[in-house]
Amino acid sequence: MLNEHDIRYVLSLSLEEAAFGCEKITKIKTGEVCSSCEGSGRSSTLDSTICPKCHGIGQIYQSYPISVHIPAGVKDGYQLHVNTKDQAGLRGEVLEELDVIVSIRAHKVFQRSDDDVIYEMPLNFAQAALGAELMVPTLKGSVKLRIPPGTQTGRLFRLKGKGIPHLDRRGKGDQLVKIRVVTPTSLGEHQRWLLERLAKSLSQAELGERKSRR
Ligand SMILES: [Zn+2]
Repeated sequence: MLNEHDIRYVLSLSLEEAAFGCEKITKIKTGEVCSSCEGSGRSSTLDSTICPKCHGIGQIYQSYPISVHIPAGVKDGYQLHVNTKDQAGLRGEVLEELDVIVSIRAHKVFQRSDDDVIYEMPLNFAQAALGAELMVPTLKGSVKLRIPPGTQTGRLFRLKGKGIPHLDRRGKGDQLVKIRVVTPTSLGEHQRWLLERLAKSLSQAELGERKSRR
């Protein structure tokens, strides 16, 4: 939505819209001098009652839809110059050219770092220890990612070319998948039994390792 009465209009975009470009139809408000009172706001020069057409403001405000072309890869704060001359339904010299500033809304799951996209992926510790093949969401659909056995929290996997297209040159950024190993907060009886056995086995293995190091 564009802010009214601003010289520079702010256009709010989702991360996907900014990444891949879009055509946005948005409304701008413009004031024209009231034809009835010629801008005085009064019924006539002798009459001090307010003009019924503009309610004393002296201007008639109308909103017009304008179409804005957003190129792929724009960043927050990107400024574009819009020429509205050829757009249907627009009149008045104020509107022929205007500056629009892009404001990108925060995304629920992705963070942007330049043209790379960062995604934090939760893994349970069985997946982290044994390895897993998982579907990872990207800005355009999901892709398969193989996690090797023994993956630790903080490890980064790079999905080449799954980021945001560069605005000024060819190519795209990457998606970085950051692993976060999640410890379970509630366990069923059987899960607890399994984990206790695992704990015993791990501590015995540790003991054996210490002995063999001596
Ligand atoms: Zn008027």
